[in-house]
Amino acid sequence: MAGMRKWNFSSGPAVLPEPVLRKAQAAILDLDGSGIGILEHSHRGPEFTAVVERCERLVREVGRVPDDYLVMFLQGGASAQFHMLPMNLLGAETTADYLVTGSWGQKAVGEARRFGGVHVAWTGEASGFDHVPDAGDVRYSDNPAYVHFTSNETIHGVEWRGEPPPAPGGAPLICDASSDIFSRPVDFAKYGLVYAGAQKNLGPSGLVLVIARREVIERGRRELPTMLQYRTWASDHSLYNTPPTFSIYVMAEVLAWMVAEGGTAAMAERNAAKAALLYDYLDASRVFRATVRADSRSLMNVVFRAATPALEERFVVEAEARGLANLKGHRTAGGMRASLYNAMPLDGVRALVAFMDEFERAHV
Ligand SMILES: *Cc1c(COP(=O)(O)O)cnc(C)c1O
Repeated sequence: MAGMRKWNFSSGPAVLPEPVLRKAQAAILDLDGSGIGILEHSHRGPEFTAVVERCERLVREVGRVPDDYLVMFLQGGASAQFHMLPMNLLGAETTADYLVTGSWGQKAVGEARRFGGVHVAWTGEASGFDHVPDAGDVRYSDNPAYVHFTSNETIHGVEWRGEPPPAPGGAPLICDASSDIFSRPVDFAKYGLVYAGAQKNLGPSGLVLVIARREVIERGRRELPTMLQYRTWASDHSLYNTPPTFSIYVMAEVLAWMVAEGGTAAMAERNAAKAALLYDYLDASRVFRATVRADSRSLMNVVFRAATPALEERFVVEAEARGLANLKGHRTAGGMRASLYNAMPLDGVRALVAFMDEFERAHV
C-alpha cells in the first residue's frame, strides 16, 4: 500500500487529475524539452509566455468566455477579492448588494463595509445557511453599484442552480465561483465579474482566476495602489510583476485535461451523477443525513451529519484508515463534508458510499 494515493475529499487544496500531476512532475525538471524546468523559466521568456497565453486560451475555450471579457490571473487567494472588488467598484456614497448563503459571503460583506455602503439583499443566517433564497425573497436596494453572490458556499454546501434575480438598473452581477467554477456550463455574458481561487477546481492555491467584462474593469477607481487596480492586470496581461508561474502552468494543464474529458458539459454530467449517488444514499440512511434543503444542495461539497458527534468522530477516523481522506466538516459547521470536485472520480464516491453503508450496518 505504501505510496498509494488516497481518495481525497478535501475542500481545498483538493484532488487534482493524476495525469496533470505526472505532467507537472516532469515539467519541473524540463518544460517541453527546453532544458529548463517550469520553476526556473523567466516569466518574460518565450517558454512561459506560451504557457500563460495557452492558459488564457483554455479559460476562454472551457468557459466559452465572450470576446469583450478579460481573463486575468491574480494572487492572494479568493479572499483578496473580498477587498479588491469593493475598492475598485464601490465608493463611500454608493451601495453594493450582497446575497449571503454562507460563511464566504459573510466574509465578503465584512470587507466591503470598509469601502462603502453594503445592503444585504438576502441572508440565510437565520436557518444556519441551509438553502439559497427563493426569487421572491430577495430585496435589492434602489441602485446598487453591483450585486455579489457566492455560487457555491464551500463550507455549508449550499449551491445556486442558476443566477439570482436580475438587479435593478442593470447593476453588474459579481460572483465568487471559487468552488464550482467550470463544474457545469455557465453563461458568462450574464456576469460583470467572476472570481475563483484556484485550489478547488483549477489548480494550486494562491492563484485566482478573474473573468470580467472590459467595461466593468474600466469603471474601477484610479487612485488605488497599482496592483489593487484590475486594469493593471488587464493591460499587462497578468504580467505586471512576476506571476506565480508554476501555478499558472498547472492551471493550464487542468484546463487542458477538462477539454480532453469533454469540457464543462461532461463535468456537469459526471458531477451530477457523483452527487446523486451520495445524496440518494444519505436520504435513505438511518445513521447519516444531508443538512441542506434539496433544491440548494451543492454538487461540489456534500455536507452531512451522523446521529451524534461521537459517531461522527469515529466515522471520520475509520474512513481515514480506509484511505478515504479529509471527510471532517469545517470547524465552524461541524459534521462531515465530502468535496466532489471535477477531479474526483465516480469510483471515489462509490468507495465512500460503500464504506458509509458498511459503517451504518455496524451502528444502527
Ligand atoms: C476557498 C474559498 C474562498 C477562500 O479562498 P482563499 O484562496 O483561501 O482566499 C473564498 N470563497 C469561496 C467560495 C471558497 O470556496
